[in-house]
Amino acid sequence: MNKSKVYFTDMHTHDGYSLLDKLEKLITKAGIGEIDFNKRFAVIKIHFGEPGNLSHLRPNFARLVVDKVKNLGGIPFLCDCNTLYTGRRKNAIEHIESAAENGFNLYSCGCPIIIGDGLKGTDDVEVPVEGGEYFKTARIGRAIMDADIFISLAHFKGHEATGFGGAIKNTGMGCGSRAGKMAMHNDGKPVVDQDKCVNCKKCAKECAQNAISFDTGKAYINHDKCVGCGRCIGACNFDSIYNATEGAFDVLNRKIAEYAKAVTDKRPCFFINIVNNVSPFCDCHGQNDLAIIPDVGLFASFDPVALDVACADACNNMPVIEGSRLSKQLEEFGNKGDHFHNCFHETNWRSTFEHAEKLGMGTQKYELITIK
Ligand code: SF4
Ligand code: SF4
Repeated sequence: MNKSKVYFTDMHTHDGYSLLDKLEKLITKAGIGEIDFNKRFAVIKIHFGEPGNLSHLRPNFARLVVDKVKNLGGIPFLCDCNTLYTGRRKNAIEHIESAAENGFNLYSCGCPIIIGDGLKGTDDVEVPVEGGEYFKTARIGRAIMDADIFISLAHFKGHEATGFGGAIKNTGMGCGSRAGKMAMHNDGKPVVDQDKCVNCKKCAKECAQNAISFDTGKAYINHDKCVGCGRCIGACNFDSIYNATEGAFDVLNRKIAEYAKAVTDKRPCFFINIVNNVSPFCDCHGQNDLAIIPDVGLFASFDPVALDVACADACNNMPVIEGSRLSKQLEEFGNKGDHFHNCFHETNWRSTFEHAEKLGMGTQKYELITIK
């Protein structure tokens, strides 16, 4: 397969030329105008951020993309699906309220916000996964599949299970309904290292399934209740919770790729990654830790595989921010690979892209075109 084109612009601006101007130029050069938007519904899949998290995307980026789609004749809406875990995005009411708290509403973004899998996360459609090894069908939020055109607008940052979250994660995991998310997650059920656990109970507060108990004075995870969402792993500041199923994260990564394949097949798609505030954890957490690297820039492509790999490579070329989780991990454990793997040693982001490539979603080979 030939190299895919990935367009990039850095964070530098000057008088009369803002980052939003740069984003407009970037997506124009990357070819968004080649899509026939005329009177067609365009879903812009975004993560609105858990309230309390301040590293999620600013609504200004969404507004720019919304206006661009409108100018091209399309009918845009912003969309995410409900979460599997507890928090304030687990049903459409709380999800829309949370989005509003984080600045996303009809007035700031210029289009409606629709929760893809409905009020309680049950409004989904079964979509075929062509070439899928884990799934024959994927359960995707109905509103996402009803749209004619799919646009991913993702905040690129770290993730405790997948290494990082970018276009493929925003598309695959992000578009799954609650049942879809469970199907992706249920391979790896974590366990607690009893020697490390200090009984702080922080993990239990994050668990929507009430799967963690403390009868012995240490956390214990009941695997009959656990759905394997991995949320508790990120909640534990003592690294006491780990995924005992060897390769479970690789299975999760490949399943996410299969869901992304279902979402993107047979319709026009376009992908934008904003690589700023690169926190070690994802925006599902109600707080954000110090960024691990300086801001990188904005990226766009028709190829989500090339796009994410280009972003990962660019991140890995950045210096480590002193005092961040990444720098602490490096001090304590030494260099075990790249920035994302060093943040969370059990993760292996490359397995996502090897599988996505196999599914025909794109290529890891890219040509980076820099826009000034
Ligand atoms: S968050 Fe970690 S240290 Fe605290 S109770 Fe849970 S497993 Fe133990
Ligand atoms: S125990 Fe952890 S992985 Fe299992 S459901 Fe609860 S938060 Fe998710």
